[in-house]
This record gives sequence, C-alpha cells and structure tokens, in this order.
Amino acid sequence: MLTVEEALEQILSRIRVLGTEGVELSSALGRTLAERIVSRREIPPWPNSSMDGYAVRAADSGNVELAVVGRVAAGALPSRAIGAGEAMRIFTGAPIPDGADAVVPQEDVDAAGDRVTLHQRVTAGAFVRPAGEDVRVGDVVLEPGRSIGAADIGVLATLGYARVLVVRRPRVAILSTGNELADLGTEPGPGQIPNTNTYSLMAQVREVGGEPINLGVAPDRLDAIEERLRAGATADVLVSSAGVSVGEADLVRDAMTKLGAELHLWRVSMRPGKPITFGSISGRPVFGLPGNPVSAMVTFELFVRPALLKMSGRQHLHRPRVKARALARIENPGARRGYLRVTLVRDGAGLGARLTGEQGSAILRSMILADGLAVLEGDTTVEHGQFVEVIVLREVAG
Ligand code: AMP
Ligand code: MG
Repeated sequence: MLTVEEALEQILSRIRVLGTEGVELSSALGRTLAERIVSRREIPPWPNSSMDGYAVRAADSGNVELAVVGRVAAGALPSRAIGAGEAMRIFTGAPIPDGADAVVPQEDVDAAGDRVTLHQRVTAGAFVRPAGEDVRVGDVVLEPGRSIGAADIGVLATLGYARVLVVRRPRVAILSTGNELADLGTEPGPGQIPNTNTYSLMAQVREVGGEPINLGVAPDRLDAIEERLRAGATADVLVSSAGVSVGEADLVRDAMTKLGAELHLWRVSMRPGKPITFGSISGRPVFGLPGNPVSAMVTFELFVRPALLKMSGRQHLHRPRVKARALARIENPGARRGYLRVTLVRDGAGLGARLTGEQGSAILRSMILADGLAVLEGDTTVEHGQFVEVIVLREVAG
C-alpha cells in the first residue's frame, strides 16, 4: 500500500497544465492568470493632488499671502504654470500645475477673492501623488499562476487589459456507479439509495474552478460502465465513484482497462478512502474514487483537487495546515493514517479542534460540520490539550 504522499506524487507527476484562452476581464475572477503582466502605463500618469486645496511652491510657503491665478479640477488641465508668489486652486485627482511642488489643504488656509493666506511652511511633495508612485512603465505587476482576485482585476483594468490570458478550466466528467443508486428526481425504490456522490463531486469540481460534466449513473455492468466512461471522452479528467474495491460488483477498474487505461495506483494507506484508483486513458487522467460519500469527498480533496489545480496552472496546490489543540480526545484506531473530520474554534488560546461526531465513511453530515481534517498516523491518539495537525477546509470565524 502506498502512503498518501507517494500516491499524490505519482498523480501530480502525470498531470500537465492545460492550454490557455483569452477572456474578458470582467469574467476573469478566480481564473488562473497565464501571462506575465508588464505595465505599459505609468500609474498615476502625472503628478496629481491628493487633497482639495491650493497648489503652491514650497519655497513660497510660511506665513504668506499668494495670488490665486487659476483653478484646476480632476479631468481638466492647468491653464498655465505658477510662478513666485502664486497659487492655483486645485481639487483631488487634478494635475499639479508646472511650477508647483506641493498642495496645501483648503482647511489650512484663509481664502478671500483671488488671494489665499498660508500659515505654515510646507515641504516639497506634500499632498502630491507623484507620477508612477503605484506602477512604473516596465514594472512586472503580476506573475502567471495566480488566481485572479478582485484587486488583480482592478489593477488590470488600470493597465488597460480589456482581455486577459488565462488557463483553460478543466472539464471533469463525473460518473456514479452502482445498481443500488436512484438518481435525483427519482424516488428510491426497495433496495435503492439516493445518488449522493455525483452532486457533491460536481460541486467540489466547481469549487476549484473546474467545469463538471454529469455522466449520470451506471449500473454494475462492465459494458454499461465502459459506455458511460466513453461518453466522457471529451473531458480533460474522468472521475468515477464506487466499484473500485474487491467485490464481485467492483468493475470500474476492469472497465477502465478495457478502454485502454494504464492504471498507476490502487490502494493508499488512509482512512477513509483506501481503494482509490488513478490511471490514464490516452494521456487523460482517470480517478476511481471509493463509493462511500465521505470517502469520495475526502479522496477528491486529497488527490483530485491538487491535480485539478495543477492542471489549471496554479502555483499553490495545497490547503493550509495548522496545529490545533484537541478540545477532547481524538483517536485513530487501525494501522492506516486517519483523516478525521473536525470542527475548529478560535479562542484566546488559539485554535481548538473537536471531532464532528461519528466518523463512519457513510456519515456525510460529518462533512457538513467539518472545518478541517485532522491528520493522525495509524494507531495514535491525541489527548485533550495536545496538538494535532489539521488540514483547513474553510475559514474559521472568531
Ligand atoms: P462500493 O465501493 O461500490 O462498494 O460502494 C461503497 C458504498 O458507497 C456502498 O454502501 C454504496 O451503496 C455507497 N455508494 C456508492 N456510490 C454512491 C453514490 N453515488 N451515492 C451514495 N452512496 C454511494
Ligand atoms: Mg458498488
């Protein structure tokens, strides 16, 4: 059996970054930037005022009266330069007139008609935003591989990017298998259970910026599974759940092999999860996840998510990990490494972790409650007050 790290390394070593496409800037949020952004603009383009007030020459300041020789607002140009003994009325964002090198805020002066009286010395540059204080021509502003955020979009708009190059979203085909499954929209009959995995896995695909394709439910028949998997041939990645154990009805691996898949790994020493399959069909990755709803979600989280992020061209593939204090005993019986669902709370002493309750791999409500996965090696116990390593799945309030 492989360790989680070995399995992940094998998976990631076979994942290639997808191609790129241009998108409108307003649709670029959350996409992976695929180009290096080098500024062709100076931001701000010229020195401008950061206050409403008077543009002056610092050399003229002190306790003096100056002649107001004009007025300039944002969007206009100064009508002329200012000379010795002169000032110009100016508003926030307006260009500083030639000859001026400082702005005195209007609340610090006395103004009457075309005269203004200053009361203090000002230093050159006061309340002036110099040209290029934010971005200079030639600056490398953004590097490829980052998820485009709201601030990136603001900067890209400022630099004139109406479109931006991003990595294509991975298209991920999702298949559920099992004779017992009644899909959404059908009331489960005798011996049937509702199909959970298609929907949680499609949502997990969306959460990492992928596009899910629903291949529906296949019964436990080799030809049926094969046919459905074939329908997913246009996807970048195939993800199936269930049917990967050693039971007679576990036919997913055979179906993959019949389609020409090369299977790279099967069993991983973890709980929940153990029977996870990874392979490739003509260079495209295929994952066979276990069927229990928690196992499917946790193995997606640990293996499929980083693979999709790598495909999307992202630099950071992994969730943050923290050390949290156990708020009660946390036990991992059995030889396999445990990924236990915990809620996290923040208090004066830092982060605390508590099991969500029963940890059975069919108890999907444990995933609703889970803020993180506590990682415990086989046959270990973390006592109340001791520290435990937790993979953070979502932000903790407080
Ligand atoms: P299997 O790996 O096929 O033995 O499935 C393991 C367990 O997961 C069984 O109890 C299945 O009924 C259950 N299961 C498999 N697929 C799904 C699904 N799509 N939704 C909910 N439960 C499932
Ligand atoms: Mg089954």
